[in-house]
Amino acid sequence: MKRLFSKEEIEKAVDRLATEIERDFPQEELILVCLLKGSFIFTADLARRLKNPVKIDFLRVSSYGLSKESSGEIRITKDLEEDIEGKNVVVVEDIVDSGITLKAIREMLLRRRPRVLKICVLIDKKARRKVEVPFDYVGFTMYDGFVVGYGIDYAEAFRQLPEIYVIEE
Ligand code: 5GP
Repeated sequence: MKRLFSKEEIEKAVDRLATEIERDFPQEELILVCLLKGSFIFTADLARRLKNPVKIDFLRVSSYGLSKESSGEIRITKDLEEDIEGKNVVVVEDIVDSGITLKAIREMLLRRRPRVLKICVLIDKKARRKVEVPFDYVGFTMYDGFVVGYGIDYAEAFRQLPEIYVIEE
């Protein structure tokens, strides 16, 4: 395993993202939608940096199909508890790969008619992008590699690592 992003780099990125979000929503209430499980640490850190009044809710989806690749059809396994209609919503995602999952989540949430829906991504992984998703805030950009740590797992392991690592093949 090779370290990709240190604690300090993550802290700086989260700080910058919070500043960008605050600039877009000065003092307005936000609902942070944490996409489980991988975004739980990122969401917790981001929430603590934001000066806005914040509500936090959790969404978990699984994609249909057996292949490792997302199918584009999602099944909600844990839905939001907040009604997001008319609200400022920021979706917090750990890592975007093909973009298929996030695109499906975005479209599903837009049908609930939030006032604004923004997307905050910790890692934008470019190599296998299949569909374009418009995200608003990006922590890091990388080309390829399997990432773990800071909430992100490999077979449920490594989520607790405070830094981000790439697993070498
Ligand atoms: P997409 O639909 O963009 O292909 O899939 C995104 C999801 O795949 C992420 O939310 C994450 O759960 C998983 N994923 C994509 N790349 C990685 C990676 O490098 N490491 C881990 N652990 N999960 C990944």
